[in-house]
Amino acid sequence: MTRKVIARKSRLHGMGLFAARDLKAGERLIEYKGRRYGKGEYPEMGDDGVTKFLGLSDGTGIDGTGWAALANHSCDPNCELQEETGRGGRIRAWLFALRDIRAGEELLWDYRLDIRSRKAAYSDWACRCGADDCRGTMADPKRIRR
Ligand SMILES: [Zn+2]
Repeated sequence: MTRKVIARKSRLHGMGLFAARDLKAGERLIEYKGRRYGKGEYPEMGDDGVTKFLGLSDGTGIDGTGWAALANHSCDPNCELQEETGRGGRIRAWLFALRDIRAGEELLWDYRLDIRSRKAAYSDWACRCGADDCRGTMADPKRIRR
């Protein structure tokens, strides 16, 4: 099987994830792997670590350590993260292509971080992805308190 993704330096932020070959819309790319955390448990937050923590819909989470955790955020993403319930009811998360992607394109998904404070959302989690419709934060706009 040909490798679908590669990791290399991104012009957006640190390392990024890129298409190793042309990808089709809807293609399953890579699993979001890492240390699992139970409901309400969070890893100790390092300077950079917090953006690697993926909160799942059942309240558990994954502190990403694999390649998938290298994928950067964009407000105009070409990928999305989808959950699937695996054996024993454990949720697994995968990166999927939202549209056809050319080899060499950076793979980006919309983090929609659960940040409630408007101030933090637009300072600590400000977005500079450069998309025409960049909303200015990596946070989920629906969860920010008014
Ligand atoms: Zn943006």
